[in-house]
Amino acid sequence: MRILVVGGGGREHALCWAIAASPLCDRLWCAPGNAGIAAEAECVPVAADDIDAIVAFARAEKVDLVVVGPEGPLVAGLVDRLEAAGIAAFGPSAAAAALEGSKGFMKDLCARHGIPTGGYARFREAAPARAWIARHGAPIVVKADGLAAGKGVTVAQSVAEANAAVDACFAGTFGAAGAEVVIEEFLTGEELSFFALVDGANALPLAGAQDHKAVGDGDTGPNTGGMGAYSPAPSLTPALQKQVMETIVLPTVRAMAAEGCPFKGVLYAGLMLTAEGPKLLEYNVRFGDPECQVLMPRLASDIVPALMAARDGALANFDLRWRPEAALTVVMATNGYPGSYGRGSAIGGLDAIDPGEAIVFHAGTRAADGKVLADGGRVLAVTALGKTVAQAQAKAYAAIDRIDWPGGFCRRDIGWRAVARERGEGSGR
Ligand code: AMP
Repeated sequence: MRILVVGGGGREHALCWAIAASPLCDRLWCAPGNAGIAAEAECVPVAADDIDAIVAFARAEKVDLVVVGPEGPLVAGLVDRLEAAGIAAFGPSAAAAALEGSKGFMKDLCARHGIPTGGYARFREAAPARAWIARHGAPIVVKADGLAAGKGVTVAQSVAEANAAVDACFAGTFGAAGAEVVIEEFLTGEELSFFALVDGANALPLAGAQDHKAVGDGDTGPNTGGMGAYSPAPSLTPALQKQVMETIVLPTVRAMAAEGCPFKGVLYAGLMLTAEGPKLLEYNVRFGDPECQVLMPRLASDIVPALMAARDGALANFDLRWRPEAALTVVMATNGYPGSYGRGSAIGGLDAIDPGEAIVFHAGTRAADGKVLADGGRVLAVTALGKTVAQAQAKAYAAIDRIDWPGGFCRRDIGWRAVARERGEGSGR
């Protein structure tokens, strides 16, 4: 098969790594890719959101399957355009991607179909939004309706903070994504990410994974796209997996089909495990980044037939096998991230890492004059497998310590909760 992966981050490197290992894959491209992806795929200098150019390339190269990594092109309708051109594509249609592209759409769908989520209201003007906040009090959560690169959510501890978040949205801080605001009840509990492969009617749960959003050790400091992740997630017991599938994922899949926009692709649910049971915080319509960098190394089955089955509506009797080992990934980011940062610092020592010991997924790099240069906020994701999370953690950090990059940093405690649990220290909290 001739396969094109769309995107250029760590998630897409992990996808290319897994797809390249498939005996079904004869030729692999990635648009735009990065310096690390170039080892697995032919990088094509086309931006992930340049829909016309991607469709033209896929047509010209007679691509058999396009796998779309990021949410932007999904929400913008890349899969619809590819399928209309007769090219098979893995990922949701624009209508189905609205589960991530519009938080208000997601909440209304949940309300219509009895899917557990927090109370909410949608607003297009500040005055009624402020009135709703005044009525409910803080803490309360204010969200820009549309895609805001993970930055559109404010968990407000006071009414004043909530009002300021509303004003910021309507003042255009998030562009068109903030033209509508969703205000939500504040939920408490442990958070859990849940991933399922969906074919329009059936859903197959993937292995559990947990990420670390905060930039600093001990989960402190501002939120980022994700500073590390591990799999399996100890809190995702088989009983909880069943409950999430039956109360949240499958009802969503049925609701989307019933409303004429069947969902195909990866459904990634952000959940809060509340005292009343799991409730939906948000949906993403693609693999998590960096969760994908721990899921792919644990996947023992060939990923290509699974992606095809999801696209073809043939997941009913499909199964995936997972390696028993734990996987842990540590993200290395450019100094300054998630604030402002420079580009172009040189990264050395990558050749000193034995691929049998750790896999270095590139998230934001480019090659120049035989060197690998940092070219983004999150730059590398170093993944290792181990019998335990603690062992995977030790191996990932041993590899990180061989990387010579004064311009970058990482958290030193990825997986701390799981490691504490393994040591028998309760929940590790
Ligand atoms: P989201 O992008 O919607 O998942 O929001 C980002 C983060 O904000 C989540 O991972 C939660 O930590 C927090 N959050 C979002 N919605 C709520 C809510 N209703 N109650 C409490 N925390 C929330």
